[in-house]
Amino acid sequence: MKGIFQLHVHAKKGMVIVLEKNFITLKKDDLQKTLGLNFKTGLSTLEVMKRADKFGKNTIIEEKNKSIFEKFVEQFKNLMIIILLFAGVLSVVAGDYKDASIIFLVVILNAILGFIQQYKADKALQEIKDMTQIKNSVLRDGKLNIIDSISVVPGDIIYLKEGDFVPADGRIIENFSLQIDESMLTGESLPILKTDNAIDTIRGIVDLKNCVFKGSVVTGGRGFFLVNAIGMETEIGKIATMLSEAKKQKTPLEKKLDILGKKIAFIVLLLSIVIFIFRFYQGHTIRETFNLTISLAVAAIPEGLAIIMTIILAAGIQKMSKHKAIVKSLHSVETSGSITTICSDKTGTLTKNEMTVVKAYYNKNYDNLFLENEYLKKIKTFSLICNNTHLEGEQYVGTPTEKSLFMWAKGDEESFNQNQFERIAEVSFDSSRKMSTVFIQKDQKVLQVTIGAPDILIDKLSFIDEEGKISEITLEQIERIKKINEEMAGSALRVIMITYQKREKLNENPAEFEKNLIFIALVGIIDPPRDEVHNAINECYQAGIKPVMITGDHKNTAVKIAENIGILKEGDLSISGYELDQLSDDEISENIQKYKVFARVTPEHKLKIVRLLQKKGEIVAMTGDGVNDAPALKEADIGISMGQNGSEVAKEASDIVLVDNNFATIVFAIRSGRNIYSNLKKAIQYLLSCNISEVFALIFSIIFFPVIFKEDFLLILPVQILWINLSDSIISIMIGLEKEDKNIMKHNPLNPTSSIFDGNVLNRIFFNGILMSFASVLGFFAAYFLFSEGMPIEIKISISQSSAFMTMAFSQFFMAYNARNSSQNLIALGIFSNKGLNISIAVFSFLQLIVFIKPLDSFFKVHLLSLYNWLFIIILSLVTLILAEYFKRFPLIKGKENTI
Ligand code: ADP
Ligand code: MG
Repeated sequence: MKGIFQLHVHAKKGMVIVLEKNFITLKKDDLQKTLGLNFKTGLSTLEVMKRADKFGKNTIIEEKNKSIFEKFVEQFKNLMIIILLFAGVLSVVAGDYKDASIIFLVVILNAILGFIQQYKADKALQEIKDMTQIKNSVLRDGKLNIIDSISVVPGDIIYLKEGDFVPADGRIIENFSLQIDESMLTGESLPILKTDNAIDTIRGIVDLKNCVFKGSVVTGGRGFFLVNAIGMETEIGKIATMLSEAKKQKTPLEKKLDILGKKIAFIVLLLSIVIFIFRFYQGHTIRETFNLTISLAVAAIPEGLAIIMTIILAAGIQKMSKHKAIVKSLHSVETSGSITTICSDKTGTLTKNEMTVVKAYYNKNYDNLFLENEYLKKIKTFSLICNNTHLEGEQYVGTPTEKSLFMWAKGDEESFNQNQFERIAEVSFDSSRKMSTVFIQKDQKVLQVTIGAPDILIDKLSFIDEEGKISEITLEQIERIKKINEEMAGSALRVIMITYQKREKLNENPAEFEKNLIFIALVGIIDPPRDEVHNAINECYQAGIKPVMITGDHKNTAVKIAENIGILKEGDLSISGYELDQLSDDEISENIQKYKVFARVTPEHKLKIVRLLQKKGEIVAMTGDGVNDAPALKEADIGISMGQNGSEVAKEASDIVLVDNNFATIVFAIRSGRNIYSNLKKAIQYLLSCNISEVFALIFSIIFFPVIFKEDFLLILPVQILWINLSDSIISIMIGLEKEDKNIMKHNPLNPTSSIFDGNVLNRIFFNGILMSFASVLGFFAAYFLFSEGMPIEIKISISQSSAFMTMAFSQFFMAYNARNSSQNLIALGIFSNKGLNISIAVFSFLQLIVFIKPLDSFFKVHLLSLYNWLFIIILSLVTLILAEYFKRFPLIKGKENTI
C-alpha cells in the first residue's frame, strides 16, 4: 500500500522519509496543479470512498478480532471450570451419568452465560472506545467535517488547531503560526515552528518545516495540510511495526479475584481429598464416596466469580457513559471510588461558561450602562479585532471569553463582517501567557491590539489613552488600574485589559511586540456558577472528598466564586501561581491539603500540585482541556478531560471524558465508582456464602448423622446440590446490579489497598453461610421427626432429604434479598425494589419446584412434601432472612465501608 505520490525512500539515521521531493519543493499552487486537487474544497465523498477502499484504514496496529468460537472456548480457560470438567469426566468414568450430566449442564450453562455476558460487556466497552476515538477536522466537499482520524485517506486536507493530533503525514498548505511537538519522532522536546512555503534544501527531517507527521501534537497556531501517507506508510508506522501490541492489562480487582479463585480451588481440592479418605474409612464404596466428593467440589466452587466481575463493571461503565461520564478503562471505575481530592478547573466546569460583559473601566470611570461615546466605540472595535470568534453556519463559535467580548462589541449588528480587518499576524491566547495579540493593516501602518490578564499586561504598559489624549503612564495611574482590577475581580468578575499600539512594521517574531503598550480599558466579564455545583460540592465534603478550584483567573475572582459555591470555607487557604513560584516544594507541601483555590496558575503548576498532593497520600482527580494539561492528566490518579471543546491530546491522556464538562458529573462518576465496588462486594459475598452453606451442611451430615441416626445417609443428595448450584451466579449478578446506595457518599473514600473482604465481608460470608446450612439441617430434622410419621424408613429419608433440599434452595433465594445491602435493612431499601432480582428468583423458584414433576422426581430422588412441611420450609427460610437482617446491626456483621 503506497501513498498517492510516488514514494522516494531515503534512509536517514533510522528515519525513512517517504515524501516525494517535489512534494516538499513545489509551491502550493504548483502542487495543486500537479496533483489535480482542489485545496479549497478537498476531496469529494465519492473520491474518499474510492481511496478508503484502496488504501485502507489509517491505523498502525491492526486489531485482531477473536472469532466467536475462540471467545466461547475462552470461557473454559478457568481453573475452577477445569476442575468441574474434570469432576464431570470422573463421574462418567465412574459410571455416574446422572451426576455427570448435571455437572456438564452447570459448566455449559455457565459458559453460555459467560459468553453472552462477555459479548455484551465487550460490545458496551467497544461502544465506549468508539466514543473516545481521536478526531480531526477534514475538508471534504468544500466543508469542514469532524471525522475519526482512522478514516483519513491520502489526498485529504486536514485542518489542524491547538490540541489536535496530526493524523497522517503530509505537506502544510496553509499556515497560521503552527507549532508542532514532534518529540515522539525526533526526541526533540521543543515545538517546531512550521511554514507553508516550498523548501529546496533537504538534508534531514529537521529541514522539513513544511511537513507534518502522524502522531505529533499541535501545541499552537492553526493550519491546513495535505495528507500524503496514512497508517503503516507513515514515519511512525514504520517504527511501530517493531513495537508489539500492548497486552490487555488486568485491573487490580481482576487480579485479586484471580488469586481468590485459585485459593478457593486449592482449598476445595484439599477438602475433597480429606472427605474422600474420611468417607472411605467410614466404610463406603469408592463409587459412593466419589460421587459425594465431586458434588462437594461443585458446591464449593464459585464458578461464576470471574464473570460476575466483568459484567458488573461493564454494566457500570455503560451506565456512567449514559450519564455523560465516559470511562475509558475498567481500572478507572475502581480508582474513582478512592478519590480523595478533586482538582477542578473553574471555567466551564464549576461555572456555566456563559460569559457576559457587564462592566468596563476606561477614561477614569466605570461604565455599567455602556453609553455611546468615542472611547467605547474604540474599545469595542479592539475587542473585535483581537478575536477569533467566527460564524459557523448560523452560529458564532469561539472561546467563551472571546465570544462574550465579540457579542458585546458587535452589539445588535446582525451580519458583522469579520473580514473587514486585514490581519497580518497573531499570537493566540494560551493559558501560560494569559494574553493574545492581533496585528492588522491600517493606513499604511500596523495596528496592534493586545488583550489579556491585567496583572500580566500591567508590566507591559508605557502609555495611557485618557481624556482624549495618549500620554506616558504614571506610577499613580498604574496603581489606580491595579486597584480597580482587584476591585472588579473581588466581585467575581473575570477582568480583561485592552491595550493597543501602532507599529511601523513587524519582524519575524510578533510576540516580541507585546510591550510598550497603550492602556485603554479594563472589561469585566461575569460567568455564573453552574446550578448543580453547590450540591455537588456539599456531597464531596460529606463523602470526605476535598474539592479544589484551579483557575487561570485572578485570585480575587477565584476566591469570590469559591466562597459562593462553598469550596472555600473558614480556615481554608488560597494561593496564586506567583506565590507558588516563590515557595519551595517543602513549603508548599506543608499546606498543600489546605489550599482550596489555586489562582493564576499555568498547566505546569497543575503537574506540581498533583505530585505534591499524591506525596501526601491523596488520590487525585484532575481536570484539564488543553495540550499543556496532558502531563498533569496523566500524572493524576484519574485524569478528567472535557468532552466539549477539550483538545484531542487531553482526551487521549485522560481516564474519564466528561461529555458535559460539568463538575457534578465528576462527583457522579465517583459515586458510581463507589457503588460499583460496593455492589461487587455484595455479589461476591452472596456467591461465597451460598457455596459455604452447602459445604457446611454436607460436612455436618457426614460427621454427625452417623451419630444421631445410627445410620449413614446424606443431608442432601449430590444431584440436588448440583441443581441448587445452577442459580447462584445469576442471582449474584442481579445483586451486583442493585441500584445506588443512598449512603454511599456518607462515608470516606475507599482505601485503594483494602481487600474485597474488608469491612466484615468475610464475617458475613461465614455467618450467613452457617445460617443457611442450619436452616437446611433443621428442614431435614423437622421432616424426619414431625412430617413423615409412620412412613417406611426409605421414604422417610427421601422426604427429609427433599425437605433439606428445598430449605437450602429457598433460604438461599430469600437470603439474596439480605445481600442487597450490608448495613441497611430490607424494609428501608424497599423489599421488591430490585426488579432483576425478583424476576430471577421467580424463575429459579419455578426451576426448583419442577423437580417434583415426573419423571424428574425420580432423577432427583425427591418425594412430595406435605402442606405443613412446606409451611415449615417457608417459615424456616424466612426466619433465616429475618435473623440475617437482624444481625446486620451488630458490629461484627454490619457492613463497614473500608475507608482511608
Ligand atoms: P481558566 O483556565 O480559569 O479558564 P484562563 O487561563 O483561560 O483561565 O484565563 C486566564 C486569564 O487570561 C483570564 O483571567 C483572562 O484575564 C485572560 N484571558 C482569558 N481568555 C483570554 C483571551 N482569549 N484573550 C486574552 N486574555 C484572555
Ligand atoms: Mg480557559
